Amino acid sequence: MSGPLEDSPIEDSSLIEGSSAATAERNRMTTAPEQLSAGLVLRPDGLADQQARVGAGGVELSGGRPASFRPASDLDRADGNYFVEGLPVEIHCHSMGDVDFSDFRDLDLPALDAVAAAEGVACVPTVYLAREKLSEFVAFMRRFDELRRRGALPFVPAIALEGPLLASHGGTPASTVWPPTRAEWEQLAGCGPLGLAYVVISPDGLTKDSDLHDRLGREHPDLPWIVRTLVESGVRPALGHYTKLEPKRAAELTYEIVDIAWQTESPIVGARVVTDHLFNDMPLTIKHAFRTRKARAERDALIAAYDLPSWNLADLPEQVGDVPAAIMRLCHEGKVASCINFDSEHVDLAIAARAVEVIGEGRVMLMTDRCDAARLGGQQLHREAENTLWYQDGGVVAAGSQPLDRQLQNARRAGVSEGRLWDLVSFTAYTTLGLDRDPWLNPARTGSFLSVAGEPSDGRPSYTRHAVVASAPVLDADRTDARHDRHPVVVSQA
Ligand SMILES: [Zn+2]
Repeated sequence: MSGPLEDSPIEDSSLIEGSSAATAERNRMTTAPEQLSAGLVLRPDGLADQQARVGAGGVELSGGRPASFRPASDLDRADGNYFVEGLPVEIHCHSMGDVDFSDFRDLDLPALDAVAAAEGVACVPTVYLAREKLSEFVAFMRRFDELRRRGALPFVPAIALEGPLLASHGGTPASTVWPPTRAEWEQLAGCGPLGLAYVVISPDGLTKDSDLHDRLGREHPDLPWIVRTLVESGVRPALGHYTKLEPKRAAELTYEIVDIAWQTESPIVGARVVTDHLFNDMPLTIKHAFRTRKARAERDALIAAYDLPSWNLADLPEQVGDVPAAIMRLCHEGKVASCINFDSEHVDLAIAARAVEVIGEGRVMLMTDRCDAARLGGQQLHREAENTLWYQDGGVVAAGSQPLDRQLQNARRAGVSEGRLWDLVSFTAYTTLGLDRDPWLNPARTGSFLSVAGEPSDGRPSYTRHAVVASAPVLDADRTDARHDRHPVVVSQA
């Protein structure tokens, strides 16, 4: 993006009003497949002038695959419909529709798959784990792996864990924050081949600043051992839930984890380390969020004082703080893929959009942290009057509530270019999780049509998104192999 960030309509009330459930309901109207066509195809390697349309076997592209692509940024000067070779990915979320992931023992995986299919997104459910449920979790992962291999969960490519080694709870339920022993880490690592994509870990989780420090004994391994054990088994450490006490030390530990992850033998193809939210639950030198009317009153002056256009990789430690600077530099080097919220409330949209620019292409994933139900990990949540976040008792933010399409629209309004948007919501997650080679989600089977829905006042067209899933494999109750639908599944979405 090149325009001045101050012009972004950050406090546009249209981004904050309306219930997500009502929006989802309104949008769940199916469009006839033959109405979907586009003259441009966006792929991770660029933009192609090709006709895409829905045929009997899925999406058909004119003239086969072209050898060369234009830069994705050309999409910003194009008009008309376009097709993206990928689905948006919910990389970190806590419940979808009526499907609650608070307790994985109640998580109805086929129901989640159906909800994700209806919304046209791939979903990585983020679950919590209490210590006494570890062996049940391993059994749950075996069941997940079996269902996925049978083709019963095309839209649920992996599972993620928030915790248990967290230095500060944030919104995480206390019973699910604990220090695993060597044997317990080995059980968690064993879930890598079963589809455990990442485990949120605090780099300072074992230091004296950590909430867990008093509970550590001889049976608890050190951080290098934990990182090696996970990465060897294909589980990515996800950096997050830092204490705010020793930023320099926490940044050093961040570099150390990433170094170890990249020195270890690993089956992971994409980034070996990911993050929980960038800017949330970490020490900062800026005020990153403006969640109340009172806070918003001073927002413009503060953002102007931060001089976002001046942010650059060399000066980041002074500009944002040692920990986010370390993460952003490591993303830029291609060693980490970071998640950022675009709900405008976890992080100010101008800050999120500028971070995406500074990091550069292909290393940021938009995370919703969404929770469609009013509970999380056994705790009741409530809303407050001035934003759409979910709070637990004591005023701690527990989760967000905006679905992916709304956050995608927020990113657009914050100035993220159309060509970059799909890096954030789809391509980076595909590369990070290896979905480009996934039997159910690979680009030959799935994709998104964006059809122009109107010309708003700010000059960017608004689009309606349609997910197309060709011959989605579904579970045949009588057999263990996948059966194929003859017709593409078409879902309509905002
Ligand atoms: Zn979360």
